[in-house]
Amino acid sequence: MSRLNEYIPIVGQPIIDDLKLLAGKLQGKVVQNINYTPVGGGVTEILNIMIPYLQELVIIARWDVIKGGDKFFAVTKKFHNALHGRAENITEDDLKIFMQTSQSNLAELDIYGDIVFIHDPQPIALIAKKTSNKWIWRCHVDVSEPQQKVWDFLMEFIPRYDSAVFSAPSFSRPLPVRQFLIPPSIDPLSDKNKELSRETIDGVLKKYGILKDKPLITQISRFDRLKDPVGVIEVYKRVKKYIDCRLILAGGTAADDPESVQVLEEVRERAGKDKDIYILLLPQNDIDVNALQRASDVILQKSLREGFGLTVSEALWKAKPVVASHVGGIPLQIKNKYSGLLCRSIDGAAFSVKQLLNNPEYARKMGENGREHVRNNFLLTRHLKDYMLLFLSLYHAEDVVYL
Ligand code: UDP
Repeated sequence: MSRLNEYIPIVGQPIIDDLKLLAGKLQGKVVQNINYTPVGGGVTEILNIMIPYLQELVIIARWDVIKGGDKFFAVTKKFHNALHGRAENITEDDLKIFMQTSQSNLAELDIYGDIVFIHDPQPIALIAKKTSNKWIWRCHVDVSEPQQKVWDFLMEFIPRYDSAVFSAPSFSRPLPVRQFLIPPSIDPLSDKNKELSRETIDGVLKKYGILKDKPLITQISRFDRLKDPVGVIEVYKRVKKYIDCRLILAGGTAADDPESVQVLEEVRERAGKDKDIYILLLPQNDIDVNALQRASDVILQKSLREGFGLTVSEALWKAKPVVASHVGGIPLQIKNKYSGLLCRSIDGAAFSVKQLLNNPEYARKMGENGREHVRNNFLLTRHLKDYMLLFLSLYHAEDVVYL
């Protein structure tokens, strides 16, 4: 069954024809993706949706995962926070742990791709295995203001890549390699985003004991401080003073995140005994995520820092009004007061949520505009095209002058 053809009613035939044309120039190329976790978070979400479509276009796409223990992932979590500019004490020991794990992955992992696509910093040191094949470093993080020490460390590896890819112009930094700006995307045909029947949505609400008698505000995110789940509760409490509502804070835990248990505890403590707050753990349940987004009256994404923030596009595609922080890739997805509302504080977010709940017509319009914005910019078809152009460019890099 051709899933790409199912896109025709959504984006139109010419876009699908373009993809097939480009794919024809890449036949037989093996693209090897490597990241650090098979579950959880936006990167795995993107790989899960991207790979089957590349296969359908007859580009051989594979996905390998590096191995690392708790210590390694504690270090890479520190890296992640430090790249986002958070204060983290990166020690020489941390760098040693990173290199030791990288060495064992270098020894164990088979590199067979014509194009090797390295996602994020965790597998970055694998570049030592570069031969005549092409290597891309795909950075999903906003590294515009990183902690210098961790950036200097990564710069030992980045210049050896053929190209680097960032999600947005504002995320990147001057580099001695060719840079591409490619935002991620969502797949409207996936379980996470496809249309659901009323019965399915109600069934999911019932499963979690969620009542629909009051407006529902929802944030779906890993329990990570940078997603500010405690801030979300503060927003809800401010709204609740004026509008009786319920809050859903739903998130699984990414396999690599040692902090999440502690964050979850802080969230539970702040929620106290409020029966209108639902804290749900739903790792890897796409239909449930989809249903919760669709059942909601307002979607929040109150992140303090963000990569692209896929959850925003997911919600907008469902024509939901979204209130989200002006960080990372969120302003690409939300044009303020047109396709959602951007906020910069708890008070600002609470004000916007109230505004949307008090004015359903305004909320409906925001959601509709958001859906069209996602249709034009953040669906998988645009992403596939950008990636294929990127792959082709690797074979046409001569005569490029780097600044
Ligand atoms: N997600 C999920 N279950 C959860 C929490 C998040 O499936 O319990 C998904 C969410 O729908 C989105 C991805 O994980 O597709 C998170 O991507 P995003 O870019 O928003 O944030 P990241 O986790 O990569 O920082």
